[in-house]
Amino acid sequence: MPVLSPRLTNITPSGSDGWEVFTRARQMIAGGTPVTELTIGEHDIRTDASILGAMDKAARGGHTGYAMVPGILALRTEVARRVEERTGVETTVENVLITPGGQAALFASHLAACPEGHKALFIDPYYATYPGTLRGIGGIATPIQAHAEDGFQPRIEDIEAEAEGAASLLINSPNNPTGVVYTRETLEGIAEVCKRHDLWLVSDEVYDTQVWEGEHISPRALPDMAERTLVVGSMSKSHAMTGSRVGWIVGPKEAIAHLMNLATHTTYGVAGFIQDAALFALRQGPAFERKIAAPFERRRAIAVDILKQQNHVRLIPADGAMYVMLDIRETGLTGEEFANRLLDDEHIAVMPGESFGQAAAGHIRVAMTIDDEAYGDALRRLCAFAATLCE
Ligand code: PMP
Repeated sequence: MPVLSPRLTNITPSGSDGWEVFTRARQMIAGGTPVTELTIGEHDIRTDASILGAMDKAARGGHTGYAMVPGILALRTEVARRVEERTGVETTVENVLITPGGQAALFASHLAACPEGHKALFIDPYYATYPGTLRGIGGIATPIQAHAEDGFQPRIEDIEAEAEGAASLLINSPNNPTGVVYTRETLEGIAEVCKRHDLWLVSDEVYDTQVWEGEHISPRALPDMAERTLVVGSMSKSHAMTGSRVGWIVGPKEAIAHLMNLATHTTYGVAGFIQDAALFALRQGPAFERKIAAPFERRRAIAVDILKQQNHVRLIPADGAMYVMLDIRETGLTGEEFANRLLDDEHIAVMPGESFGQAAAGHIRVAMTIDDEAYGDALRRLCAFAATLCE
């Protein structure tokens, strides 16, 4: 075989990719061992039947050919309307590109924002694909550690210290894996650094409908930020449409025009019947989005209640998203060791914090993706297990 391009092989260099516990849990399940699965961010409900109905109607109605590459006009218009309504920032179809999910939007945004060989900054702990995405577009993936003692709000001086010569900064609020929602103060500080150092800000807002405390602020709405912010959005989490692969980028018109050319040369757009289904889903409005988010809000309250009753495992205040992050350092184990032993001894699968970067070492991420009773039961068993390690 001829040599593979380093552009490809550098995406995930050899070694641990952080998914070992997840893979092992799947193997145990396949082998017939029941495992309580709290690893990935997948709802415990499927895409709503009404959305599937809209998809079916669109496909049978003939929307199965090539769709408009930047997205059908009606969907782009609806996304623009939604973004304008939620942020107050004037947004038109020319600011919107429909993409095959948020992941493709993250990749495309960085191809736009970071020239090859430049530093692309991101905050650690991070969503597991971030470094690979940044390496994939030829950037120098540069983590900036946030700290557990700050509730994982990043420190502005730490971003400032890396900003010289960087091209872009990627942030994610509400945050996966920590559940942290960035405060206005944090976002204003970030905006100032971006302006001072002429950085693009890529704002991953795929959890914007899952906020339990405080408010979601899009940094695109801060003064003079619309011209340097690319917002990544997705139907995956807000509408339980993870498999449909539909999301968007919202940004300056000129950037979107170039990103359209990229779409023509890569994805060639998103299936028309999927876009029709996404349009139908968005038109169900905020009440529908609240219904999809409600189970996570309930389970977050269950977690707060259970964690209060013991003092070995510390809950990082989870203000949003579908996960809780637990500090298990008192057990003396790493997140990875704890997750492996929890899987072996209790048949509960969680993600080691280390899968999300060095800043999350000694933590575990627990997805809130099973029914309330089973979720509460799993957390109680997890705490009891931690207590035995602390004896
Ligand atoms: N960003 C974050 C923070 C995520 O957690 C995810 C999915 N888990 C994505 C982006 C990508 O989501 P999708 O491609 O399904 O829109």
